[in-house]
Amino acid sequence: MDCLFCKIVAGEIPASKVYEDEQILAFLDISQATPGHTLVIPKEHYRNIFDLDPQVAQALFGQVPGLARRLKQALGAEGINVINNSEEVAGQTVFHTHIHLLPRFGQEDGLDIRFQTQEPDFEHLAQLAQKIRETTEEV
Ligand code: AMP
Ligand code: ZN
Repeated sequence: MDCLFCKIVAGEIPASKVYEDEQILAFLDISQATPGHTLVIPKEHYRNIFDLDPQVAQALFGQVPGLARRLKQALGAEGINVINNSEEVAGQTVFHTHIHLLPRFGQEDGLDIRFQTQEPDFEHLAQLAQKIRETTEEV
């Protein structure tokens, strides 16, 4: 398969690795949106969060807190953003599941992730929650 991250796993393309075990690999993102910007991936190929095997997800997400603490300590970060982009509409450009770890160093560290706040519409929220609860997960 012509997949960039599978090639990194196979050692065909170089990467600055920060963690590796049987199932998981973490390496520095070439774009370094903030210093220490790291990608955590399963070694097995899954397109994104929608087709990720639950056991693999457990192994993948299970590494996130430890890696976050390690980045915080190693780089003196104050905080971290943990992001997964799934599908093009969400900004996914490499179609091999990955989690972005973005260490944060202050308001001027080059990253601005803020959610728009608006007046809560509780009736709408209740309807939406019901719709989601009643939807059978497709697997
Ligand atoms: P996304 O847009 O969520 O799919 O993220 C893909 C990320 O992969 C981007 O942040 C890229 O900078 C990063 N990337 C692309 N090629 C490489 C590479 N060879 N090594 C490390 N990171 C890469
Ligand atoms: Zn792949």
